[in-house]
Amino acid sequence: MTTGTVRAMSTPGRASLLINGNWVNATTGATYAVTNPATGVVLQTVSDGGAADVLLAIDAAAAAFPGWRRTVARERGRLLHRTAGLLRDRADSIGRLMTEEQGKPLAEATGEVEYAASFFEWFAGEAERIEGMIVPSQQPDQRVLVTREPIGITAAITPWNFPAAMLARKIAPALAAGCPMIIKPAESTPLTALAVAEALIDAGLPPGVLGVITSDDAATVSGALFGDGRVRKVSFTGSTEVGRLLIEASAEQIVKLSLELGGHAPYLIFDDADLDRAVDQVIACKFRNAGQTCVCTNRVYVQRSIVDDFTARVAAKVAELQVGNGLRTGVTVGPLIDGDGLAKVERHVRDAIAKGAECIVGGTTLTGGEYDSGSFFAPTVLLGIDADMDIAREETFGPVLGITPFDTEIDALAMANSTLFGLAAYAHTRDHARLFRCRGGPRARNRGDEHRADLGGQRPLRWREAFRLRS
Ligand code: NAD
Repeated sequence: MTTGTVRAMSTPGRASLLINGNWVNATTGATYAVTNPATGVVLQTVSDGGAADVLLAIDAAAAAFPGWRRTVARERGRLLHRTAGLLRDRADSIGRLMTEEQGKPLAEATGEVEYAASFFEWFAGEAERIEGMIVPSQQPDQRVLVTREPIGITAAITPWNFPAAMLARKIAPALAAGCPMIIKPAESTPLTALAVAEALIDAGLPPGVLGVITSDDAATVSGALFGDGRVRKVSFTGSTEVGRLLIEASAEQIVKLSLELGGHAPYLIFDDADLDRAVDQVIACKFRNAGQTCVCTNRVYVQRSIVDDFTARVAAKVAELQVGNGLRTGVTVGPLIDGDGLAKVERHVRDAIAKGAECIVGGTTLTGGEYDSGSFFAPTVLLGIDADMDIAREETFGPVLGITPFDTEIDALAMANSTLFGLAAYAHTRDHARLFRCRGGPRARNRGDEHRADLGGQRPLRWREAFRLRS
């Protein structure tokens, strides 16, 4: 289905604000350019929305809310199903667009479109399962009913590293629950977001239920969303630093907030692991999206007896990764998103080497030919990472795999947990008792002394969102 009735776009200077079902320019007329990180070429110029545009989008959402909340859940679900289908039909073109504006290799980009479609599909089903409860009352003549109501106007602020999936993960549940949503995609990847919004419109979404504010001024847009008082819930995925700012911003109007923030995942490889599998999986975990993934490992801990073997095997495979424009066949690692991203990777590598780490492969910014027009860093393996190096403390967000040897399980857990980040963790061993000791999880964390004794007083691995048991 490609009705496209509300599309009014032109290139360049695309009207990219979706307000009340119409694609419009910013009220100020301001625009900004979206560039291809692999080539430096401007892809499109889009609207640079500001506070006045946010207010218009909120007005439209407020007008749409009563009708959308009354739309029966099955109908809302059908619309989400149609959206999933349209995204799949358009996976090749949206994937190409994503590679052009974000840089990830084409296969990863089209895979992400499928991943985004899966969220629409999942929440299409969930729309019909918004159930309530009856709970016992303290009074004999009362019955307590718990019913779920759409909270009202919601907003989403999303990062550039998964420009379709992170949006889908927010839009789909909000719409399924009967809430309008206003989205503010990352400034560097608005085009993929516009393609997702187009799929929703073509699936039949009523005007005002989705608003899109593309902008180069995130703080202003966010200030308008939080300050208005009608936006009841904001869902944010992005860096921990910005997450802190949003916690502060939410206080004034007491806006509900969901945060998915940065990661610094540890990856433990014990000496009984299947090494071939461990090597392949560490590489897949670390180098997809050029290492710009919140759950990708940033600290690899390898038991000392196998560290040389592991390092040699991993380095041989990392040396074979093909870096370049993600549209080119065979490329497995694309550019970093921009010069700032590249500068952080360079700093981490420089700092680690200055403090004694050994560079086994890579270690430099790539130059010459196509590399001169983008931010390309050679896939890198560093051995001998210490706790005082920047890479051991901060999210690198680049194609750098740092290895730290360990002697015992207890040492490994202590190092793995010495971080404020708790997003994801990984472990490879054939010892299943150890796997479950490491895994811990909320219940194990509360199991107390007996469990702790197994771990020599250490806690199980910190993780919140993802833990992969690998044997
Ligand atoms: P970022 O925090 O810089 O930006 C995220 C979003 O916040 C963007 O839309 C940006 O425009 C906006 N933003 C920036 N400054 C803002 C401000 N002052 N007020 C309001 N909004 C503001 O993050 P990024 O560089 O786009 O993405 C990378 C980060 O996202 C990494 O830290 C990564 O780990 C994290 N991330 C986490 C998850 C997860 O599920 N936990 C998933 C993907 C990415």
